[in-house]
Amino acid sequence: MSVAYKISASILAADFSRLGEQIHEAELAGVDWIHVDVMDGHFVPNLTMGPVIVKACRNISQLPLDIHLMIEAPENFVDAFARAGSTILSVHVENNPHLEETVQSIHDLGCKAGVVLKPATPVEMVFPILHLVDLVLVLSVNPGYSGQTFLPEVLPKISALRHALDKIDHPIWLEVDGGITSNTLPLARDAGANVFVTATAIFNHPDGISSGVQLLRSLLPD
Ligand code: ZN
Repeated sequence: MSVAYKISASILAADFSRLGEQIHEAELAGVDWIHVDVMDGHFVPNLTMGPVIVKACRNISQLPLDIHLMIEAPENFVDAFARAGSTILSVHVENNPHLEETVQSIHDLGCKAGVVLKPATPVEMVFPILHLVDLVLVLSVNPGYSGQTFLPEVLPKISALRHALDKIDHPIWLEVDGGITSNTLPLARDAGANVFVTATAIFNHPDGISSGVQLLRSLLPD
């Protein structure tokens, strides 16, 4: 099976006074997707950005926009995020009684749909819905803030998902998000992930965004 690996650059660590410039630099350096971490101050303690920023990213870049919704009642917001130009909308499985309907609405809005697991959430929670989704995102830090350390205890979860996804009859991205650096990316890659979200390793790399992207890319097969 040929596998394409993707780097999804999370703008959470970008300099927002120069967001356009920074996204262009990441795009030129070869990132595949732009990742937007949406936090509402309820589902997670932090408060970040909403559809206005997604729309700004859409105007800046043609890259797929990979939107990670860490919000309560995501079913009330998927329409606004779809209209803002999202490509992929991912919702958490925790505290989400309307998961299946929400995934269906995301597809009806013309977007790809993903489901997300926090580090402590059992992998079995996503098995009943795998046949309906385009992406599974495994959080490798507790959600809320950029710059945290990768939790290696999520690696068996990634391996279990890789095993399950290989039995599904359509391709599903297996994405990992949190603490991905040049040291931790190979661990997640070897466990079976094929999309890597990185924020600080790209936007805060001491030698600049291009160097950060090149270093990560060098760890992935073509
Ligand atoms: Zn994220």
